Amino acid sequence: MDKMTVKDIDLKGKRVLMRVDFNVPMEGGKVTDDKRIKAALPTIKYVLEQGASLVLMSHLGRPKGGFDPEFSLKAAAEVLSGHLGIPVQMAPDCVGPEVEKMAKALKPGDVLMLENTRFHPEEEKNDVGLAKKMAVLGDVYVNDAFGSAHRAHSSTEAVAHLLPAVSGFLMEKELEYLGKATSNPEHPYIAILGGAKISDKILVVENLLSKCDRLIIGGGMANTFLVAKGLNMQDSLVEAGSVDTAKAILAKSGSRIILPVDAVIADKFEAEANSKTVEIDKIPAGWRMMDVGPKTLELYKTTLKGAKLIVWNGPVGVFEMPKFAEGTFALAKLLAESGATTVIGGGDSASAVKKAGVAKQMTFVSTGGGASLEFLEGKELPGVAALLNKK
Ligand code: AMP
Repeated sequence: MDKMTVKDIDLKGKRVLMRVDFNVPMEGGKVTDDKRIKAALPTIKYVLEQGASLVLMSHLGRPKGGFDPEFSLKAAAEVLSGHLGIPVQMAPDCVGPEVEKMAKALKPGDVLMLENTRFHPEEEKNDVGLAKKMAVLGDVYVNDAFGSAHRAHSSTEAVAHLLPAVSGFLMEKELEYLGKATSNPEHPYIAILGGAKISDKILVVENLLSKCDRLIIGGGMANTFLVAKGLNMQDSLVEAGSVDTAKAILAKSGSRIILPVDAVIADKFEAEANSKTVEIDKIPAGWRMMDVGPKTLELYKTTLKGAKLIVWNGPVGVFEMPKFAEGTFALAKLLAESGATTVIGGGDSASAVKKAGVAKQMTFVSTGGGASLEFLEGKELPGVAALLNKK
């Protein structure tokens, strides 16, 4: 069901309470990457242009409860102020009489940033009492925090039932593009899954297999499938407890699953380990699979040829180590050259396309790690479900 957006409601003269994802990396009190702040700018600017005032809320990190300067959103508010070219007021808390006073004094075009919602432990309990205190700060609620939408928290779920609740543009875009992966996808549709563990992604494997034409499985995940096929993966990362599940998946959909045919292997799980490329069934004792090899990349190339839609989540190798990053970067480049609609499902794959220098050539790179994974599992995210449906 399509969700209502900021464009579907009248914002003139309103006070907009907006949940953003300003959970930015910080070092020494400074924001080291403002990508998430930038991602919220289109909605923030739109709301202000409509003649509304804006109250922003977000979580940051995992504070223990109570105010802690290390987890303050003050630095994020300063970065936002720089991008907007107007002052952004900083509230001492996310709720309470003083904050209410500040919110009520806002004029159209003014922006107030609330303090970290997680300074209140009730936030993560989806506490309605806390949500009520948040709701008095606005006339309408906008959720543009896709990266937090898989969590039912006071600021993402409970509060959305207390005010007219709509999505922002970032949220809308995430739902549109990730939605292409899970409902009415274009065909040929090739899905690619990598990453460390199959147990984290079993539901994604099953959901994507019910939608896509072919599923490429790489990374650590592939090892468990290869063991299920009877191969000896030696010291590779294998989840023994998931071999039977992998067997069942292969029995049902094996002909549509593409597994590595060769591998870059290492004698240690270390960046400076000795490495070599071997056929997938010839890994010597004491060695482990670290990346896919050139023959596998050729196979990826032919598999992706002519695809209309490619969805990718998870690296196909230990791409944090330069010696074992080639496969993941080469795959990113294949996507860039594919001519298909390319949707990157957040987290490590988002950082891989960036490191490979092809992020701009992707149709869409999700900002949500856990949220995009749960979306790809086919789950309705609580922060999305709580928003008003389009008529
Ligand atoms: P995930 O969070 O499940 O997407 O997993 C990402 C992690 O998978 C990255 O840190 C990679 O280093 C790791 N990974 C990818 N390929 C392998 C592999 N062959 N063996 C072990 N870890 C891997």
